[in-house]
Amino acid sequence: MQVVCAVAPARDALAALPRPLGFVPTMGALHAGHLRLVETARQECAAVASSVFVNPTQFGPLEDFERYPRDDEGDRRKLESCGVDILFAPDVEAMYPAGFSTSVDVGDIGTRFEGAIRPTHFRGVTTVVSKLLNIIRPDVLYLGQKDAQQTAVLRKLVRDLDFPVRVQIVPTVRESDGLALSSRNVYLSPEQRAAAPSLHRALQAMLSDLRAGKDARIARERAWSLLDPIAVWDYLDLVDMNTFGSLQRLKVPAFVIGAARFGGTRLLDNLLVLE
Ligand code: AMP
Repeated sequence: MQVVCAVAPARDALAALPRPLGFVPTMGALHAGHLRLVETARQECAAVASSVFVNPTQFGPLEDFERYPRDDEGDRRKLESCGVDILFAPDVEAMYPAGFSTSVDVGDIGTRFEGAIRPTHFRGVTTVVSKLLNIIRPDVLYLGQKDAQQTAVLRKLVRDLDFPVRVQIVPTVRESDGLALSSRNVYLSPEQRAAAPSLHRALQAMLSDLRAGKDARIARERAWSLLDPIAVWDYLDLVDMNTFGSLQRLKVPAFVIGAARFGGTRLLDNLLVLE
């Protein structure tokens, strides 16, 4: 695996790779969820590039950018053993040199749910992913379903700005008790960790009520009560898969989405409903 940290050498190295090229962007602290994306890319593409970049512009001023988990050595080892050809690992200066001022904004869809709680988050995500797509120029972009709204925002970015890339969504990898793998799970205390799977159980209960014909308001009420009381819901809803507009009744394709705070740690989860 070749590791490149600057834009021009990355372009040179990538030009030599066979096509199709799959690309897996990450913020590092890699776990089996990230690696599932890499493995999927490896199976489907002739070459695989990944990036590790903790992107400051997608963190709010009071968020955990400084203390976001980092494990450069471990990340490199894991990506290499999964067959990544090129790792792009820039520092902040390489991505945002002095004078950088452009941003990319997808509008309404980025202002709901996660966007309402983290007002500058999706602008940071769409800006950095636009840069990464221009640097890497992949044929397929691999994204995790775990970050459901991010998948909708980035699919819209690709469509609206005509990036010549196909977006492939990879199902969420979970612990055996249902908790979605996340780099932030390491922040959980033992008590919070024990309560965290209630997020997934609540989403499942909501979906089963929706499938039984209940409307979203009623289904949400029951699911709301299933979240362990040490946590606080930020939101719980049924939304259209593409627009992230709320739905009153189950209509496919949709996501049942939820976000809850376990102490200072926010966890997201969702269920994708295709039929
Ligand atoms: P992050 O490093 O958190 O920015 O995540 C990088 C990519 O990995 C994103 O596309 C995430 O949606 C994806 N990802 C994170 N956790 C999981 C998981 N548990 N299962 C599948 N994909 C994941």
